[in-house]
Amino acid sequence: MYQVSRGIYRELSPEIVTGRDGHEAVLRSSEQAIERLATDRHYFAAPARSLFREIRVHFPIQAQAHVWAVVRDYMAAADGAIAQLTTHGRDVFGNRLNCRATTRRGSSCRRAPSNANGYCPSHQHLAITEDIDLASAA
Ligand SMILES: [Zn+2]
Repeated sequence: MYQVSRGIYRELSPEIVTGRDGHEAVLRSSEQAIERLATDRHYFAAPARSLFREIRVHFPIQAQAHVWAVVRDYMAAADGAIAQLTTHGRDVFGNRLNCRATTRRGSSCRRAPSNANGYCPSHQHLAITEDIDLASAA
């Protein structure tokens, strides 16, 4: 997974203008974004935009468009790869995933999610209502 964050860093590092601290910050932010994407992708809204916002201060104005393009492309590729890897009830680090639903008693559902939407078979209806919410919000 860290190939992705190193890839982002490698492509962008010649354009960093904030010195050694800037290099460290860009690498660390990229690693954190990928890690969060890998473990928490259902709750990580707009990962590319959030990483871009975090690191853009380390680049000059004329490099911003390139920085955004690199971040967007790498994060999209990573998200696709992670979605594929997390369909068998484990995250990319091998940790067991739990269903995203909360039970009537208020604790989280302990069953394994059955597919990429992150819900177990008995909570699939929540994924459907979520899609409807997103569609009506758009
Ligand atoms: Zn469930």
